[in-house]
Amino acid sequence: MASLRTGIYPGTFDPITNGHMDIISRAAKLVDRLVVAVAANAGKGPLFTVEERVRLVEDEIAALGNGLDNRVEVRPFDTLLVQFARELGATAIIRGLRAVSDFDYEFQMSSMNAKLAPEIETLCLMASDRYQFIAARLVKEIAMLGGDVSGFVSPRIAARLAERLRDGR
Ligand code: ADP
Repeated sequence: MASLRTGIYPGTFDPITNGHMDIISRAAKLVDRLVVAVAANAGKGPLFTVEERVRLVEDEIAALGNGLDNRVEVRPFDTLLVQFARELGATAIIRGLRAVSDFDYEFQMSSMNAKLAPEIETLCLMASDRYQFIAARLVKEIAMLGGDVSGFVSPRIAARLAERLRDGR
């Protein structure tokens, strides 16, 4: 009997963008269960707390209204990625690749993770044309400067960004 395959899609998701959502929808077709793993990453000085980021991802997935939330879980983590992947019984780490800029980093990270956990494969999905240029870091910069981010994130996320930047932190 075939066992259920679990994939893990890790990232900071500060905040979740249309590019991340595209990878989640596509990755969910490749595995039976997908865990979106939200890294605490306090070192990166995120705009939203890890609890807020988890909630934002959950809300975005639920808002699709296509039942994806039955197979996709969102979990925070602050340990070594491969250790968390093992705890979940994941067989694949999913990453998204934009243009050439992501390649070096992803290649290096997947090689290190393969040394640490040879039984777990890294699967890189190529960014879709229309989301290729979206980066959470730039979305935040644009929002901070009062620009329109509606082409990069959902209206809910755009509103949360505006609210967070207005209230300051
Ligand atoms: P990290 O802190 O690991 O860079 P991110 O949340 O920025 O976390 O990204 C998580 C993953 O999603 C990474 O593999 C990243 O390359 C990928 N990703 C980010 N933006 C996009 C996009 N627009 N299209 C496809 N993949 C993306």
